[in-house]
Amino acid sequence: MTAAAKPLAFDDIHTQKKQQQLTQMMHSIAAKVRGMPNANSTRSACPVCAHAPVDFFVNAFGFEMSQCGDCGLIFCNPYPSLAQLDVYYNSEMKSFENEFFRESFDKRINIFLPRIELIQRYGGKGRLLDIGSAIGIFPEALKRAGAPFHLTCCDLSVDACAELKQRYPDTDVICGNVLDMAVDEPFDVVTLWDTVEHIVDLDALLKKLRGLCAPDGLLVFSTPNTHSFEWMVAGHQHVQILPPGHVNLLNPRCIQHLLPRNGFALVDLLTLNASLDISYVQKLMAQKKVDDHRLGVFLNEALADEQFCTMLSSYLVEKRMAGNMVVVARPA
Ligand SMILES: [Zn+2]
Repeated sequence: MTAAAKPLAFDDIHTQKKQQQLTQMMHSIAAKVRGMPNANSTRSACPVCAHAPVDFFVNAFGFEMSQCGDCGLIFCNPYPSLAQLDVYYNSEMKSFENEFFRESFDKRINIFLPRIELIQRYGGKGRLLDIGSAIGIFPEALKRAGAPFHLTCCDLSVDACAELKQRYPDTDVICGNVLDMAVDEPFDVVTLWDTVEHIVDLDALLKKLRGLCAPDGLLVFSTPNTHSFEWMVAGHQHVQILPPGHVNLLNPRCIQHLLPRNGFALVDLLTLNASLDISYVQKLMAQKKVDDHRLGVFLNEALADEQFCTMLSSYLVEKRMAGNMVVVARPA
């Protein structure tokens, strides 16, 4: 097995240093943000599917997260104000985040290569707009893959944009909020990697993206999927519950509500990195943080799926863990 073929593990992309410092830093920044006025009111209905009422999910870093009992959306309720977000994204959190992106840069490239393959499999070519490029892991992956796109990057961070411009001189860099971006000529491909969960108004975002995307273009984005092994097991303690940074945590049902009403049709929906789920759950188990009930939440659903049962039964046979034993003996 080559190094490249080794499945990605949670610790590869979340370095030890990050894991140790993240919680502490989040508490101090969140306290500062919480102290600011916020005119947004608490919502009684789901912003994605309008189901009401929504349920309390968890209080994290002093922010309340609600969950919709119908589409499953988990969201920061009330949503933070623009002023609060401005303070949060201009805090030391951003440079901290960029620092750990640098530490795990090469490992993270491995997440992007299959995504580039996917874009090309669906015929993506030409002008590509990447929103939320940060320090440029995706641009670097495009370069390493030799993917022939003309790239435009858009990011809120002045520092990130300066770095992108310097490292990728052929790339157009737009420093600012995508919602304010002028549309001169639409793009053939628009990508957002782990950015959508940070956006409060998803309908406004998607409407904007619709305008930025050519009629025969492609929109490709990634975001945490709460309807997944690691989320069903981790539940309220999931490491990605990070308000006021992560304000909308989605699942495929939410996507089915959001896309059509904003002018998009779903072409495909994949979850590519199951090794991260497994290593994260293993980590929680090692820390004695998994209760059997939470594992049961996942298995209850998975065991109703024929494909999972086929896979599990061949696993059990191979590991000799199925519940009936055939012993073959020979006289010695
Ligand atoms: Zn909903």
